[in-house]
Amino acid sequence: MSIPTVELNDGVRIPQLGFGVFKVDPADTERIVTDALEAGYRHIDTAAIYGNEEGVGRALAASGIPRDELFITTKLWNDRQAGDEPLAAIDESLAKLGLEQVDLYLVHWPAPKGGNYVNAWEKMVAIRDAGKTRSIGVSNHLPEHLRDIIAATGVTPSVDQIELHPAYQQRDVTDFAAELGIRIEAWGPLGQGKYPLFDETPVAAAAAAHGKTPAQVVLRWHIQEGNIVFPKSNSPARIRENLDLFDFELTADEQAAITALERGGRVSAHPSEVN
Ligand code: NAD
Repeated sequence: MSIPTVELNDGVRIPQLGFGVFKVDPADTERIVTDALEAGYRHIDTAAIYGNEEGVGRALAASGIPRDELFITTKLWNDRQAGDEPLAAIDESLAKLGLEQVDLYLVHWPAPKGGNYVNAWEKMVAIRDAGKTRSIGVSNHLPEHLRDIIAATGVTPSVDQIELHPAYQQRDVTDFAAELGIRIEAWGPLGQGKYPLFDETPVAAAAAAHGKTPAQVVLRWHIQEGNIVFPKSNSPARIRENLDLFDFELTADEQAAITALERGGRVSAHPSEVN
């Protein structure tokens, strides 16, 4: 099984499929990330606010996997955007992860009420220039936020990590990002289990046709859309299931039928609400 990589606008390659650890209990993180690494994942998506960077770091160290075979993302939380705070925050994340450099560092939310996301982006550029991350990007940024940060720095993020699944595709953001060469990372790729995607007819029909589960069909849809995904699960069986996407292909009609499931079905917070 080999996971495809995609090239970001700075030349860095990222595995298109990874493992996300939002809501993975810090006490269980080392074990669950170890399960994911043993299953074959090499790309881990965490964040300072998840409180589990130390557990991720312990699993990485114990795995013995060479650093250059791993792709590690973490994120700057909203209360560290002002002044030089981002510079301190990355050092804290690196210490918790036990790494000298992450592969991708993201501004977690624009947090517009604080008014500091442009400053945060300026500091991200400095953090990359200092070699503490290979790539920099943003999360939950709408076109207005992307315009502001690019205008201020001339530096285009490598990715925008946004809520995206068949019921909520955010085409306004993805079209704008595509024009700028920003890759989309889809968080909540399975609708966080909150949106009944698996019961939708095109998903169930494709699952039956290919002998796959509905979750695998939704994840395969993302892969064929070109999205970068990192589904989360605590269960070893589902961790393996979510990796087993590369021995089948949705037909153009199946892909289109799933794309037609757009319902404005946002399952989590809107960027204007998170500050
Ligand atoms: P997800 O869409 O990956 O859903 C996870 C849930 O789906 C699980 O808890 C489980 O209930 C279910 N599930 C997983 N595999 C399944 C399977 N094979 N069959 C049936 N059900 C299954 O949601 P998520 O965890 O929120 O998103 C993935 C990752 O995205 C996170 O872990 C995190 O790394 C990232 N994320 C980022 C942000 C952000 O603001 N940047 C927000 C949320 C999540």
